[in-house]
Amino acid sequence: MTRALFIIDVQNDFTEGGALGVEGGAAVAAGITRYLAQHPDRYDTVFASRDWHDGDNDNGGHFATGPLGAPNAPDFVTTWPVHCVAGTTGAEYHPALTLSAVTVGVRKGQGRPAYSIFEGVTDDGESLLQKLDGFGVDEVHVVGIATDYCVLASALDAVAAGRTVRVLNDLIAGVDPVSSALALTRLAAAGVRIESSAQN
Ligand SMILES: [Zn+2]
Repeated sequence: MTRALFIIDVQNDFTEGGALGVEGGAAVAAGITRYLAQHPDRYDTVFASRDWHDGDNDNGGHFATGPLGAPNAPDFVTTWPVHCVAGTTGAEYHPALTLSAVTVGVRKGQGRPAYSIFEGVTDDGESLLQKLDGFGVDEVHVVGIATDYCVLASALDAVAAGRTVRVLNDLIAGVDPVSSALALTRLAAAGVRIESSAQN
């Protein structure tokens, strides 16, 4: 069996103090680092994604820049404040996340919304699926941010790609507690195992 870890969008803008900071995001960064240090041989390959948007357009309607209450204000469901613009500090990995274990970097969202890591391009220009097939990955574990958006979409796409999937529920953080709980229910219904990192 070949096992991969997906580290989804552990970036400054998605952690406390960022443009779209999620509560618990920094703790997730530190927790993933600790987990990988404790289990250096658990994964054959480690993928880390970043949201990587254009700075000169609204990325296909993904950004909304109006003030709160205005018709063009972000709704925090399908439209968002400006975040993770390519080359900015906000788009960088959170400093508490170890990068030494990361095998493949993936960037997504260039000019368009992209919630799933499968929509991204690897740093050497391949699709994620090409990389998974190339490495012969049959099991995927998913951690990162945000539970109710990019973790959800990435894990569902991994199921659709025929992989066995687990989400490690102590190494994720969500935008909203209600939609995060719904996301985990939906994932479980799709056959994803929801477990703590100590269980697997
Ligand atoms: Zn985005």
